[in-house]
Amino acid sequence: MTKIAVAKGDGIGPEIMDAVLSVFQAAQVPLEYEFVDMGKWVFDKGFSNGMTSEAQQTIENLGILFKGPMETPKGKGVKSINVTARKTWNTYANKRVFQTLHGVDTVFSKAGIPIDVTIVRENIEDTYGGVEHMITPDVALSRRFITRPGSMQVIKYAFEMASKKGARRITCGHKANIMKLTDGLFLECFYEVAKNYPDLKADDVIVDDLCMKLVTRPDTFDVVVLTNLQGDIVSDLCAGLVGGLGFAPSANVGDHISIFEAVHGTAPDIAGKGIANPTALLLSGFSLLQHVGLYDKANMIENALLYTLESGVHTGDFGDRNKPSLNTTEFANAIIANFGKKPEHNPKPDMTDHAVSCTVFNLSKNAMMESDSTITEKINGVDLFIESNLQPQEIADKCLRHAGVKFKLVNISNRGTQVWPTGSKFTNLVNQYNARFESIDDHALNQQDVIGLYVSLSGDFRVCSLELLNTFGDKKAYSLAQGQ
Ligand code: NAD
Repeated sequence: MTKIAVAKGDGIGPEIMDAVLSVFQAAQVPLEYEFVDMGKWVFDKGFSNGMTSEAQQTIENLGILFKGPMETPKGKGVKSINVTARKTWNTYANKRVFQTLHGVDTVFSKAGIPIDVTIVRENIEDTYGGVEHMITPDVALSRRFITRPGSMQVIKYAFEMASKKGARRITCGHKANIMKLTDGLFLECFYEVAKNYPDLKADDVIVDDLCMKLVTRPDTFDVVVLTNLQGDIVSDLCAGLVGGLGFAPSANVGDHISIFEAVHGTAPDIAGKGIANPTALLLSGFSLLQHVGLYDKANMIENALLYTLESGVHTGDFGDRNKPSLNTTEFANAIIANFGKKPEHNPKPDMTDHAVSCTVFNLSKNAMMESDSTITEKINGVDLFIESNLQPQEIADKCLRHAGVKFKLVNISNRGTQVWPTGSKFTNLVNQYNARFESIDDHALNQQDVIGLYVSLSGDFRVCSLELLNTFGDKKAYSLAQGQ
């Protein structure tokens, strides 16, 4: 029998997990559970990453974690356990399926517009790296990591999944018109992978336009792949289209370890009352069952759930207010009572189970994901970020004195807008400038040259940070300032 790790979570977590496991037990799902210690109470015991080392070991041995929502203590300087789990175990693809559920009234269900959108969200990179610094008391910076191997991994997963499910269309949501290097790289990877799937219609939509189109014509979308933060926002938008967070499941898929959970959180406002809706966690459980090859069990329970919803049975957060709502346990029991019944809309076919046990991986070292190490790298210059409340011309006068024989001062910008050599007096300033120096005559520079400039400039300014201006192959690997 396949064994999986289960963490019940915080808030409503234990209530909805117990309900879902009772449905699994009634359906005689052949899974064994090992309960692990994760969540707020583990943080409270002094474990800084919210899980015990036994829990980590168990999850790494079993390869599958079914988890309830978890709370991360606020203001204690600890990182979100949910994000830590996804990142530590490289669950790089977050798949969230949003489908019309008959019995769950929405604007679209009333208008007869069916929704079946799968969001694939990159799950590890982006601003979720959480690498942030205050570089002056007034200025906070976040590093946004978009990497080629990280993007390729999730985009390949999205195409493969779309192709297997016979998708009509796969769309990349992005903001590459503004973030040309980060989102530009993600988009480039998307079309690179698309070449291997000529039968799949692949296109891209800028993320704000995507949001507008999703709320006006959601039925025109099928699979949508996005970077982490944009994917997070767009997937909550999609949850709203199908009835709210109570119906939003999520699978965090990796090569070795996968995590199945609901999109929603611990719902502290209703925790302990026994009234939470277990549907999202149950839908996440279906993904888990499919993941381990238990297709027939997944479809049988899903048919019972769909039948239950169609017959108007509901928890307090949705459904006909004139009909009394069921509590969490009663709702689970109603599903169990409907085992063997098929819904009128979208019944799932009978299938054969091919239970697969999860492989136990003993990795001897961390995998290095590198796509092309043969690209030539050249340093063209450096962006030096300095703290100052002087005016742009005064900064330039000082910087010019430090440029020496190897560098020329190209421009100065403030929050990405050029303020020297040209600019506007109407541009508001903060006390952090970027002085961009490039090599005179396009000569290649080395790191010692850059450090020399840093040391020299630090005689006049507090230099907060620096970024090299590189060329990779024939591509300039840095953005221009607005107005440059
Ligand atoms: P939330 O999703 O917990 O709650 C938002 C609203 O939706 C609340 O009104 C809540 O009652 C309702 N709701 C959520 N799930 C429901 C369900 N199953 N049935 C009925 N109603 C439901 O979001 P929040 O209040 O912003 O976050 C609370 C906590 O959860 C925070 O500590 C947050 O960090 C954590 N969180 C965890 C996860 C996760 O574990 N993956 C995800 C999101 C938030």
